[in-house]
Amino acid sequence: MTRLLLVGGGHSHVQVLLGLAARRAADLQVTVVSRDILTPYSGMLPGVVAGHYEPADALIDLAPLCEAAGAELLQAEVDRLDPAAGTAGTGDGRSWGYDLVSINCGSAPGLGPIPSATEIGVAVKPISGFLSRWEHLLAHLRERRGDTFRLVVVGAGAGGVEMALALNYRLREREACRGLQVSLIDAAESILPGHDPGLARRLDAILARQGVDFRGGTRIAEALSDGLIMDTGDIIAADEVLWVTDAGAQPWPGEAGLAVDRRGFIRVDAGLRSLSHPNVFATGDIVSFAPEALPKAGVYAVRQGPLLADNLLRAAAGRPLRDYRPQRHYLVLISTGNRYAVAARGRWTAEGAWAWRWKDWIDRRFIRRFRRH
Ligand SMILES: Cc1cc2nc3c(=O)[nH]c(=O)nc-3n(C[C@H](O)[C@H](O)[C@H](O)COP(=O)(O)OP(=O)(O)OC[C@H]3O[C@@H](n4cnc5c(N)ncnc54)[C@H](O)[C@@H]3O)c2cc1C
Repeated sequence: MTRLLLVGGGHSHVQVLLGLAARRAADLQVTVVSRDILTPYSGMLPGVVAGHYEPADALIDLAPLCEAAGAELLQAEVDRLDPAAGTAGTGDGRSWGYDLVSINCGSAPGLGPIPSATEIGVAVKPISGFLSRWEHLLAHLRERRGDTFRLVVVGAGAGGVEMALALNYRLREREACRGLQVSLIDAAESILPGHDPGLARRLDAILARQGVDFRGGTRIAEALSDGLIMDTGDIIAADEVLWVTDAGAQPWPGEAGLAVDRRGFIRVDAGLRSLSHPNVFATGDIVSFAPEALPKAGVYAVRQGPLLADNLLRAAAGRPLRDYRPQRHYLVLISTGNRYAVAARGRWTAEGAWAWRWKDWIDRRFIRRFRRH
């Protein structure tokens, strides 16, 4: 018997569970330990905020997937790994032994350098935490419908732009919060750093059309209960702050002595195997892919899933691994709140209501795959 431990129920592991359900391996004993049993699909989160989906539409239930895969499921947040003993555990003393472990625990918001950021405002990650705070924030804003309310979204990557536009649409158009001002800020000079400038230009125009104000080159020195202090000393007043900042790594893989990059992400080879520990695999946002730098985007975690499933079975059987070959260009679909989206692939960009319908179709199809059990 090989004991396979899956840490986290991210976009790759849900597919590993589908793979294991289809190819039950008699000599594999599988345990899943995840912080969330209802694991969120981030692609639909802006649509939840905009009011197009119910929160439950964007959640994948791990329980039936584990049952179909013959896996034991436990709800816990792993915060330690002992590669020498072959165990993963939690601060309250629980631990699980493994022969093979796979880590797909996503990323944490990178708030470390900003004093008091963790006490102020709402972080979009972990998404399960955000979803419970969101209902509360919405109720609060409904009560203050007639008042001036300044909402600042920090982080102008794809997630931040989508969230700013979704919040703006929901609160102004559907909740009639007429005194609302949504601002988007980032240390970079322009939105969507790392993406094609054509995509950024389209979204700049949409932000301006919808009255969302973007302030680039804005570095936060400190977060206060009523605003953000910049490193220039300027203050941006804020009644609520939403953090959609760069992805950070959970500290425990690095503390365990796994090979990690300078930001703490687990370094893996083309087979998605740790560079330092051959019985440790990792995928998704927590990974620093050694063959080439990859952005932190769910599409990678999704694409790595089927290959990870195969490689875990191969590793358990002592067979050679297959290589993951990331695609150079992938389809980016950024929703803009109002059932409209901008599409990009490489240097090609376009926009329209059709792009939103395309995204909606892709997202619903993805989620449906996990609902048949
Ligand atoms: C608003 C927003 C919109 C986005 N939209 C898109 C999009 O449209 N397309 C795209 O490609 N990317 C998008 N992203 C990026 C995307 O969210 C991430 O790249 C993706 O979620 C990473 O997937 P993952 O499988 O690595 O981890 P996650 O999806 O974060 O899953 C992590 C899992 O691990 C569990 N977990 C976490 N820590 C532990 C622990 N210590 N122990 C046990 N379990 C743990 C969690 O409960 C969860 O089940 C968006 C991000 C945001 C913020």
